Amino acid sequence: MILIVDDNPDNIFSLQKLLESKNFKVDTAHSGEEALKKILKHNYALIILDVQMPDMDGFEVAENIAGFSKTKETPIIFLSAVNTDKRFITKGYNSGGLDYVTKPVDPDILMLKVKTFYRLYEQTQALKEIQQTLELEVERRKQAQKELRSKVDYLHTLLESLPQIAFSCDYQGNIDFVNGRWFQFSDSASSFPETHPDDMPIATALNESLGFGRPLEMEVRIRKRDVMDYSYQLLRVWPILENSKNNWIGTFTDIDAQKRAEKEKDEFLSIASHELKTPLTSIKAYMQLLDRKLKLDRECAEAKYVSRVQGQVEKLNSLITDLLDLSKIDNGKLGINKKMFLLEHMVQNAIDSIVQTHDQSNMNLYREGDISGLMVYGDEIRLEQVLVNFLTNAYKYAAGTEKVIVQCTVINDFVKVSVIDFGIGIPANKQKEVFDKFYRVEETSFDFQGLGIGLYICSEIIRSHQGEIAVESSAGKGATFYFTLPLNPVTDVK
Ligand code: ADP
Repeated sequence: MILIVDDNPDNIFSLQKLLESKNFKVDTAHSGEEALKKILKHNYALIILDVQMPDMDGFEVAENIAGFSKTKETPIIFLSAVNTDKRFITKGYNSGGLDYVTKPVDPDILMLKVKTFYRLYEQTQALKEIQQTLELEVERRKQAQKELRSKVDYLHTLLESLPQIAFSCDYQGNIDFVNGRWFQFSDSASSFPETHPDDMPIATALNESLGFGRPLEMEVRIRKRDVMDYSYQLLRVWPILENSKNNWIGTFTDIDAQKRAEKEKDEFLSIASHELKTPLTSIKAYMQLLDRKLKLDRECAEAKYVSRVQGQVEKLNSLITDLLDLSKIDNGKLGINKKMFLLEHMVQNAIDSIVQTHDQSNMNLYREGDISGLMVYGDEIRLEQVLVNFLTNAYKYAAGTEKVIVQCTVINDFVKVSVIDFGIGIPANKQKEVFDKFYRVEETSFDFQGLGIGLYICSEIIRSHQGEIAVESSAGKGATFYFTLPLNPVTDVK
């Protein structure tokens, strides 16, 4: 808005008309005093000020305006009777926003000046707004930084109080914080503890994970600075903020005692199963002798008892064999002796041994698929063990149903051997885990005996044949366990 200050109503009227015709908003004052009151109340883009007024002249008004901080920047155009008045104009008013027009006013010249000042005013306003937004932004950022700093301090205090070694780093593994415990294992806050020669250096492991935005979890051996022996630690590195690639937090948790206990348990299992195996083999042999003798008199009650004992001994034998295999896998010593063999031969042997050990069962075993003459490369005995395991499970978990199917199909360059049963099945969310060590489906574990290691051993055997092992099932409707073997396997590097 523009303020016109003049004691002559005619002048005000004509100026007001002129400005309004050019779409400017106009306010008016008829004396210096009235002008000052209005100036203090409102914001004007420009003041057009008559110099010669009774009581308070234009220069006095201008001097007053210059004295108020709110108005000192407001530009003024003086309307003066004579040109020489202009030397008074700058007195006390240094904003630079000053000009004059001599009377009688030339409308074109006045409009030119008004427009210039008005544009200047608009630009100044826009700049002020930008400045204000920038100041706000700077303030907001300062505040955010302060909050972040206090969060980081809080986090660091937390990390100091942990019983673990803790650190934070960026995605390239550059460390920016370590807690006190760190220095038990490393002499520098910028380098990771040294790992066992057989383990991957931590910096390498971090690079391979964090660089791709993946959290890291690994067991690693590191040692205290003043100790010779390495101890097992679980290293976990997670992003501080979800989806943030750059800030990671890591902890080393001491799992050495746990690892040692696990090793002792494995050793115990290995020794115990070895020791159990020897007397069991003798029991089996004597039972066979007894069985042969009693078979001469089939009707006698002892023959039945012996046959039951033999069944139980067989179960015990397979449990112990599984335990032995487990410890061999743990020690990387599960022997696999591969050669070319007739697949049909292996499948038939597995079926025969199952039928023999389940002669009391009402289950009918069907075959599907012709694989006669098909040769495969692998360990026949171990693969038979897998198929026997599938079949034993089918008889166990589908007890009471009537059929089990062994299906063999050649698909492109591999052969697929499946055992299909119609028993209790496995819920979809548990199917992957049945191949894990000691895993048993919780809902059914009370109703069936087992250790939960058979399928784990099977998966290790099939893995060493470059095959696939899996299950397809829907709970209550049965399960199809299958494995595949490549028909043209990549020959093992010895
Ligand atoms: P075990 O049978 O001794 O418990 P396995 O490793 O052979 O151990 O099997 C693991 C688990 O998978 C079993 O405990 C059972 O819950 C489930 N499972 C295996 N085979 C079948 C099947 N044919 N039908 C339903 N569940 C099965």
